[in-house]
Amino acid sequence: MGFDPAAAFDAERFRREGRAVVDWIADYWAALAARPVQTGVEPGWVRSQLPTAAPETPEPLDRVLADLDRFIVPGLTHWQHPAFFGYFPANASGPSILGELLSAGLGVQGMLWATSPACTELETHVLDWLYDLLGLPERFASAGTGGGVIQDSASSGLFCALVAARERATRLESHAHGVDQSTRPLVVYASADAHSSVAKAATLAGIGRDWVRLIATDARGAMDAAALDRALAVDAQAGRRPCFVVATVGTTASGAIDPVPEIAATARRHGAWLHVDAAWAGAAAICPEYRSEIVAGAEQADSWGFNPHKWLLVNFDCHALWVADREPLVQALAARPEYLRNRASEAGGVIDYSDWQVPLGRRFRALKLWMTLRMIGAEPLRERIRDHVAWAAEFADWVEADPRFELLQPPSLSLVTFALRAGDSPTAALLERVNRGGRAFLSHAQVAGRHALRLAIGGTLTDRAAVAAAWDAIRGAL
Ligand code: PLP
Repeated sequence: MGFDPAAAFDAERFRREGRAVVDWIADYWAALAARPVQTGVEPGWVRSQLPTAAPETPEPLDRVLADLDRFIVPGLTHWQHPAFFGYFPANASGPSILGELLSAGLGVQGMLWATSPACTELETHVLDWLYDLLGLPERFASAGTGGGVIQDSASSGLFCALVAARERATRLESHAHGVDQSTRPLVVYASADAHSSVAKAATLAGIGRDWVRLIATDARGAMDAAALDRALAVDAQAGRRPCFVVATVGTTASGAIDPVPEIAATARRHGAWLHVDAAWAGAAAICPEYRSEIVAGAEQADSWGFNPHKWLLVNFDCHALWVADREPLVQALAARPEYLRNRASEAGGVIDYSDWQVPLGRRFRALKLWMTLRMIGAEPLRERIRDHVAWAAEFADWVEADPRFELLQPPSLSLVTFALRAGDSPTAALLERVNRGGRAFLSHAQVAGRHALRLAIGGTLTDRAAVAAAWDAIRGAL
């Protein structure tokens, strides 16, 4: 049997099968609440259901969908389940998923402005909308020296910012000759509660984990700005080069917010790059009442990033990164082999986004952000976040009112951290039982020296009843 173009790219067939797949997804959402949130499959079970070799001949869609039902869905933890409260949300929406589909359907590459101008210009424009919605300072607007870019993840955004900071600090020395950490080493700073992507980025950027200073936090898990100040002073005095400071707005463990204005003052004094990691909490800045805490100090940041794919109803992956000055980023990451040379790039005045990221190729991610903002609208997005925050406050009240439990911190936005007064082992065992029960899914972290349960509210389908049911499930598992 030869190649059948209709099997791969036939409009009529795609129309038919596309409808079937969209129906399948809609049915999945509609029945989601009735499923256990977490899968109970054993390691290797999914693979044991799969044939050992790829098929030689075409199979019809209905057979594939049947297998999806038989052994793929049962092997999933359902992140879009209304009772999913683990980690941070990776929420989604119909409009964003349609944007994703359009991106795949168009199948364009936006590495250069010239390779698909609309891909670049929509991204620049939507990120201008977004910085404005968040109330970020104008220094991040594309009309000035800065601008925004969509990356796959907060980890990638932070890595790119670090590489730009490294080149700014070494005046492109490390770009040419590699990083020399034997004399006057570059140093990176973040709080002890900062995300593990900081240390990973430092390793990948050739700075090395030895030169990552994890600064102490206060009782709430926010960076101790005075300790940071001392650490930079000690390093500078010893001839080391403070290069990159990460302030976290919404730490992964407890949602703590570092004191960005004080951190910025220290970074500025030493000429270090300040990156703000607001991966999860950043989305809440669209609500004016939460904004001041979230964007405080942003006017002094060199880069600021958050994940619309966490809490802004844009499906994974979509990280928004803004820089105040695009020059060091482009200097650090640009590559222009002959086959990509073109008139528009050489004339200047266009953005070539491959110069703002690690990979060359890039897909049309802006579509899903654009469609979410247009088809849902800013005010309903704000309402979703407000609901989540209000339910977290209510949940925290229930925890406080139960003498068997202890609230470890006041809730941070929609994140509640709590534990059993009986101690760490009973708390860990309770989490196991709750998650095994399938009626709610939570995760854990170390908060205030304790094994904490984390309830992170952020699901698009989550409602107050799901939060109340989670509390019932937790108490029922005691
Ligand atoms: N920063 C913070 C504060 C996070 O909580 C996370 C993940 O939850 C990340 C960075 C990493 O996000 P990503 O998966 O987009 O790299």
